[in-house]
Amino acid sequence: MNTITHWIDGRTWDEAAERTGPVFNPATGARSGEVALAGPSEVDAAVRAARQAFEGWRRAPLTRRQNIMFAYRELLVRRRLDMARMLTAEHGKTLDDALGEVQRGLEVVEFACNIAHLLKGDFSEQVSREVDTFTIRQPLGVAAGITPFNFPAMVPMWMFPIAIACGNTFVLKPSERDPSVSRLNAELLAEAGLPDGVFNIVQGDKQAVDAILTHPDIAAVSFVGSTPIARYVYEQATRNGKRVQALGGAKNHMIVLPDADMDLAADAAVSAGYGSAGERCMAISVVVTVGDAADRLLPKVRERLADLVVGPGDAEGSQMGPLITAAHRDRVASYIDAGESEGAVLMEDGRSLVVAGHEGGFFLGPTLFDRVSSDMSIYRDEIFGPVLSVVRCGSYQEAIDLINGNPYGNGTAVFTNDGGAARKFQSDISVGMVGINVPIPVPLAFYSFGGWKDSIFGGHSIYGPEGVHFYTRPKVVISRWPDPIHRGVDLGFPQHG
Ligand code: NAD
Repeated sequence: MNTITHWIDGRTWDEAAERTGPVFNPATGARSGEVALAGPSEVDAAVRAARQAFEGWRRAPLTRRQNIMFAYRELLVRRRLDMARMLTAEHGKTLDDALGEVQRGLEVVEFACNIAHLLKGDFSEQVSREVDTFTIRQPLGVAAGITPFNFPAMVPMWMFPIAIACGNTFVLKPSERDPSVSRLNAELLAEAGLPDGVFNIVQGDKQAVDAILTHPDIAAVSFVGSTPIARYVYEQATRNGKRVQALGGAKNHMIVLPDADMDLAADAAVSAGYGSAGERCMAISVVVTVGDAADRLLPKVRERLADLVVGPGDAEGSQMGPLITAAHRDRVASYIDAGESEGAVLMEDGRSLVVAGHEGGFFLGPTLFDRVSSDMSIYRDEIFGPVLSVVRCGSYQEAIDLINGNPYGNGTAVFTNDGGAARKFQSDISVGMVGINVPIPVPLAFYSFGGWKDSIFGGHSIYGPEGVHFYTRPKVVISRWPDPIHRGVDLGFPQHG
């Protein structure tokens, strides 16, 4: 059995694991390997390696750090297909989608290639007589990343390229469901010339996470995952004195106004609702129709669903793959049961789908509910599967109140041809990322990504300029040099000029 283990101080950790967990190929349901599950001693070994590497790495010239990022970027480009295949094998998403995931991670690496520019400080000459003031940004020390199963390449790459380029060292705890791709990243970083100990991986579950949250030598924690765990990580890590950014779950609404282009809206609802089998934090899970929009939109959505091809991610023509585990598939199916019994109108039912030749796979077909109301569990909870709910609203204001009343605030979108309505929406809505005729508004790497409300804890969004701020702390230097003027002792507060 293939065992996926830790990467510590530039090499594979070869001590036998006390605990392991299963890794599956979701398209077949077969167990493809096992993953070592770290406890406190493996976490401590990784943090020690990172701590030791920090003093040298923080002093490495910016040009060297940049050159290593450039070399890593080249290796990633060369190996992107291998990486995508690995994603498909352990996560289940289609190969095309996996290539897109690698691309979005790569863009953060490209952003980090520009770190010398990004770390430039301010300088003010002669703020007082012979006095200059300037700022520098310095790394924090050892940073840790804890990441979810749904983007096993991209989400870690939202974190470590920037953390490392800023001069930190890093300990990554990937999801235990699809751990292999992080190992490939470690090997590529080593090949690119990254010194041992700068990037480390501990595979594991809650035990590894708890060891990270309490380790005295970890300065900062980046987390991406579900809201209850994000809240827990935020509370534990801040209690232990760490800087924390913790991104949580989502329930993303897409409003369709009566004047929208209904073909465009139907394409968007199906792509954003069922892409990656709904296992995206920016997936649309609720379509909010205003006025008579539902009657014109829904037939078009159903037409598209009839043509949607569900199958193994590596098969030609597959548009939607399986869910991550059998347990998750069953959990999503139980929400379909609940939606039916709570009185929503089930228009498409994915529960009976069978993919020929892949009967053991964790598949669930696309499911569509109409006339969903905000008290139903299919509306309230993050389902994280291919289940799209339609809520009908009588007015624009009712739709806005619905979204603003939802505890999540990751992404949202409005579909309309009315510029004024779109502009009002972007201003009125209490959500961190807003799409206007764009269903999944994920910013490119030179902006930052982050929701509002229960979709994020802590003061920093992730990657982009906010990433640089998160992984550094500012220092302000006030210098008088040379200082030919001796004014003697003065206990007063300086008055400049
Ligand atoms: P999850 O919260 O179950 O797991 C995330 C990480 O936390 C994993 O590394 C896991 O090992 C660890 N973990 C799980 N249970 C834990 C516990 N009890 N104590 C400590 N650590 C624990 O999330 P998931 O199922 O892997 O991923 C899906 C979730 O991630 C969804 O809620 C999705 O919306 C969210 N997500 C959010 C974003 C975002 O940018 N906001 C991006 C991707 C995914």
